[in-house]
Amino acid sequence: MAKAQVQLISEEGLRHDGRRPDELRPIRMKVGVLSNADGSALVEFGKTRVIAAVYGPREPIQKYMVLPDRAVLRVRYHMAPFSTSERKSPAPSRREIELSKVIRESLEPVLLPEYFPRTTIDVFIEVLQADGGTRTASVTAASLALADAGIPMKALVGGVAVGKVNGVLVLDVDEVEDSAGEADLPIAAAPDIGLITLFQLNGVLTRDEIRAAVNMALKAIEYIVEKEKEALKAKYEF
Ligand code: ADP
Repeated sequence: MAKAQVQLISEEGLRHDGRRPDELRPIRMKVGVLSNADGSALVEFGKTRVIAAVYGPREPIQKYMVLPDRAVLRVRYHMAPFSTSERKSPAPSRREIELSKVIRESLEPVLLPEYFPRTTIDVFIEVLQADGGTRTASVTAASLALADAGIPMKALVGGVAVGKVNGVLVLDVDEVEDSAGEADLPIAAAPDIGLITLFQLNGVLTRDEIRAAVNMALKAIEYIVEKEKEALKAKYEF
C-alpha cells in the first residue's frame, strides 16, 4: 500500500517532528477562558487547539429533552472553517456528528447525572486548529470545562491517540502520522477510577501491539490528567 511507504521514522528512531515514539507533543491547558459560559477550557496538543464551553445543568428551552430522573448530557463537536489547511464547510458533517456522540460517550461514565434531574448539561467544542488527535483533545478539554463549571464528576478524563507508523507504535499522532500511518487507536480514560471510556481502532494491530499501545496511552493519560489538575488549581492561585 502506497501510504505505508512514506518514511516517518528516521534511522535514529525519531519521528518527523523530532519526537521519540513515546513522546507527547507540548501540552497546554487553561480553564475559565470564556466569561459567558459556566465552564470552559482551552487545550493544545502541539498545533491541535480545541476550546470547550459548558452550560448547565440547566432547564432546556426544548422541554421534551429532559428526563425525570437524571440530567441529559449533550455534546456538539465542531471544526471551525479555519481549523484545517483547506477551508472546512461550517455545516456539520457526518464525521462531526459521529465525533459528538463518541465524545459524549467518553464523558458520561464519570458524570453523576442523577444529581440533576430534568436538566441538560451542554458541551460545545470548537476545534480552532486541527493537526490530528482532535477527538482526544476534545475529550480532555470537555472534561476540564465540566470541572470548571463545578459539575460533580467521579474523576477527570483525558485522552490521547497512539498510532503505528513504519511499523513503530507512536504516541499522540499528528495529522501527517495519522494520514500516512498504518493504524490509529484513540483512547480516553479516567485513571483515578481505573476506567477506559473511549477505545477506537482505525487500521489493523496485532494483539501484542494493542496491549503495548493501550499501556503507552494509559501512561500518557495519567500525565495528561495531572496537567488537568494543575490547570484547575492554577485558576485559583493568586
Ligand atoms: P482526530 O482529529 O480525532 O484524529 P480523524 O482521525 O478523523 O480525527 O482526523 C485526523 C485529522 O485529519 C484531524 O485532526 C485533522 O487534522 C484532519 N482532518 C479531519 N477532518 C478534516 C477535514 N474535513 N478537512 C481537513 N482536515 C481534516
